[in-house]
Amino acid sequence: MAEYDFDLFTIGAGSGGVAASRRAASFGAKVAICEGSRVGGTCVIRGCVPKKLLVYAAQFRDGFEDSAGYGWASHTPAFDWETLIARKDKEIDRLNGIYITMLKNSGVTLFEGNGRIIDAHTVEVAGQRHTARTILIATGGWPSLPPIEGIEHAATSNEALHLPSLPHSVLILGGGYIAVEFAGIFRGLGAEVTLMIRGDDLLNGFDDDIRIELAKEMTKRGITIISRCKPEKIVQGPGGYTVTDHMGREHSAGLVLAATGRRPNTKGLGLESVGIALDDKGAIPVNEWSRTSVDNIYAIGDVTDRMALTPIAIAEGRALAETLFNDNPTTISYDNVPTAVFSIPPLGTVGLTETQARAKFAKVDIYKAGFRPMKHTMSGRDERVLMKLVVDGESQRVLGCHMMGMDAPEMMQALGIALNCGATKRDFDRTIALHPSTAEEFVLMREKAPESKTL
Ligand code: NDP
Repeated sequence: MAEYDFDLFTIGAGSGGVAASRRAASFGAKVAICEGSRVGGTCVIRGCVPKKLLVYAAQFRDGFEDSAGYGWASHTPAFDWETLIARKDKEIDRLNGIYITMLKNSGVTLFEGNGRIIDAHTVEVAGQRHTARTILIATGGWPSLPPIEGIEHAATSNEALHLPSLPHSVLILGGGYIAVEFAGIFRGLGAEVTLMIRGDDLLNGFDDDIRIELAKEMTKRGITIISRCKPEKIVQGPGGYTVTDHMGREHSAGLVLAATGRRPNTKGLGLESVGIALDDKGAIPVNEWSRTSVDNIYAIGDVTDRMALTPIAIAEGRALAETLFNDNPTTISYDNVPTAVFSIPPLGTVGLTETQARAKFAKVDIYKAGFRPMKHTMSGRDERVLMKLVVDGESQRVLGCHMMGMDAPEMMQALGIALNCGATKRDFDRTIALHPSTAEEFVLMREKAPESKTL
């Protein structure tokens, strides 16, 4: 009889857990996975995918409006929220089904229910105990709410994807990824939108020029951004909610959306039974092999709070399967990870920001191009694009590419390859432009820009 029921038992069937389990099974491991909610996890069920579908919905407004400049007898047709949500749910159901089928076809056993670690080799799911040589924790994250009076009245991104109707006005707390993405969605679909941020600018950690430019574009679209403002109390009234800020000012809205960060999902996992202590952010500490303080227990994805992005969780999961079940020790690199914010207009970024580069390199050259894209010369829309290259002044290696504007996410994937190959500014310069496009500006920037004033 085998020593354990399974070679690998994965807790959490999100993108990371599913990728690790399928890859391990493909190497011949006997694998089980459990999921307390729906297979697919945050990205597929309540994150990246449904969010992007709603962004597509919101972007149609621009298309209708812009078409008049191109000769279309333009009018903005009526929008129906219920139809959008029903169609989005149907698509998510389809993807959830595909994920379940993929697990089955890979030979991975799926248990429905939350997993609880009993000891270093035992996981309990729905009252049944299973033993495993290796346990993998891939339980992701969950919205974290600020401790303010009446916070129970705030929706999170989870509920925002299932509202019964489109609110007439939305007050969003926070200015990170989720806040700016939902601001674009709700504004595009017709709601009044206000963002309340505690700092000066949106999107901490992004390149300063880009975040400032995005705020300008969002403001042009009628989104109100209230900076240096902290919510203190939320009260429900007849037509919605009133948020009182730290100066006693009242802000009313039909919906309050808390987009104030996410925290690792470790509740009920039984970590104390194996002596795994959390770090100060509530995450499971792991080494570069994704190993926890217990030799045969590993963790990947958002629960480790390394880089909370789906493709990172997938890469960590596959690297782990290679290491443990294919005799191919593999770690992943967290450098030059392309990422996008699907705001309207969107952002795309890869590599170092100007601030990060100046902290690390003696001489940094900056190149910038800001312009009105060709499409809007005739649509008449007052919307600009900003592109920026951060270059090591000594080696001429391109350290970072940043962009705010149409199609930025699509460009960053390819620019990520260039950066990973160590491309220099000269390599960018000798690449022939693809004309006419917005992307060509990345190979046409000649003049060095002065250091950003905001730094
Ligand atoms: P972020 O960490 O990006 O942003 C949180 C925001 O909430 C910040 O503006 C923060 O302010 C603010 N905040 C935090 N605590 C409080 C508080 N007590 N009162 C008021 N404001 C507060 O988190 P998100 O929830 O937007 O996203 C979570 C993660 O999910 C992201 O970091 C990202 O990794 C991932 N994600 C990725 C997406 C993508 O790739 N397109 C899309 C969505 C999410 P401050 O800046 O001052 O700290």
